[in-house]
Amino acid sequence: MEYVKLNNGLEMPMLGFGVFKVDEGQEGIDVVKYALEAGYRSIDTAAIYGNEKSVGAAMKQSGVPRGDIFLTTKLWNEVQRTGDVEAAFAQSLKDLDTDYVDLYLIHWPVKGRYVDSWLALEKIYKSGRAKSIGISNFNQHHIEDIKKVWSVVPVMNQIEMHPRLTQKPLIEFCKNMDIIPQSWSPLGGTSWEGDMRDSLLENDVIKAIGAKYGKSTAQVILRWNIDLGIVTIPKSVTPSRIKDNIDIFDFALTAEDIAAIDALNKDQRVGPDPDTFNF
Ligand code: NDP
Repeated sequence: MEYVKLNNGLEMPMLGFGVFKVDEGQEGIDVVKYALEAGYRSIDTAAIYGNEKSVGAAMKQSGVPRGDIFLTTKLWNEVQRTGDVEAAFAQSLKDLDTDYVDLYLIHWPVKGRYVDSWLALEKIYKSGRAKSIGISNFNQHHIEDIKKVWSVVPVMNQIEMHPRLTQKPLIEFCKNMDIIPQSWSPLGGTSWEGDMRDSLLENDVIKAIGAKYGKSTAQVILRWNIDLGIVTIPKSVTPSRIKDNIDIFDFALTAEDIAAIDALNKDQRVGPDPDTFNF
């Protein structure tokens, strides 16, 4: 595993396990336990995923010390509208069966609400129950808005990013602000309409790079993230894929490999646009 130091000094694994669309219940518990056994030490969930209880149970049952796991969850949009952030956060802690999270994120920049939500997260951070706070799906102008009021700089911006949406300007902006970029749907997504997994995982350029290192296209894409300094969180419920996706710490891409993957960009989203989403 490789780690990145966040702007508050905390270390975070460069590769984590995403659990969007992982079911609550025994299946979810088994999948998360399997990921922890396979060596993942970072889990990315959200209140809206409806599986925080399974994540919490899996962490307990795994026997991995809580302090060894970097746990992320997120504040859902509806709560931003009602403003009851503290109660939502307390519920997440209860469901996750823990007394702190390593990272609490604003899930989406809800229009007219995200500045207040940021201030609410700062309070939670100062209480010690979230060791770090950050944002997700924020474009540059959203970040500039919260910058006017923040006393804590977000440690991370979790955004859609993959070879068809390389997000170079936003990533550069975040890095200049000491905000680590993190990619969601790195392999092309779980279930969004227009899921582009096939076009990425069957891509000839990525396949050819993988052939040089004896790695799959998924492994090359994940390594490309890490070589770009981007934390990533692929999701899988398939044991062989869970293992393959973490087996990326024995090779590195060349500058030419990275440039070839960068060149696949089409500014093409698989998920909603942060400036027009309507949920
Ligand atoms: P991913 O890009 O991680 O793709 C997941 C899909 O790819 C699944 O269908 C999985 O199938 C398949 N897959 C995984 N590994 C492989 C492999 N090695 N070979 C072939 N297929 C593979 O999509 P997600 O949308 O899940 O994004 C990852 C995580 O990012 C989420 O789980 C969530 O934690 C986070 N996220 C955050 C968002 C936000 O708004 N902040 C939005 C969306 C996601 P299977 O499971 O059947 O094995």
